[in-house]
Amino acid sequence: MNCWHCNTELIWGGDFTFEDYGLEDDGIVSNLSCPNEECETYVEVYLKFKDEEDKEDKTNTSEKD
Ligand SMILES: [Zn+2]
Repeated sequence: MNCWHCNTELIWGGDFTFEDYGLEDDGIVSNLSCPNEECETYVEVYLKFKDEEDKEDKTNTSEKD
């Protein structure tokens, strides 16, 4: 993944959970930063987990083929 602004390849800083960010949903926040000193872009990628089967859906398990 390259920097939106200068197209330098971003450096992956780490992954955090939504819980680390105080968010209610479950997911992963990936941190990336641009190594270009003249740019210093910082990127956070929010990936929200789909929780169709996790939440309060214990009654209907026979919908799949
Ligand atoms: Zn950049």
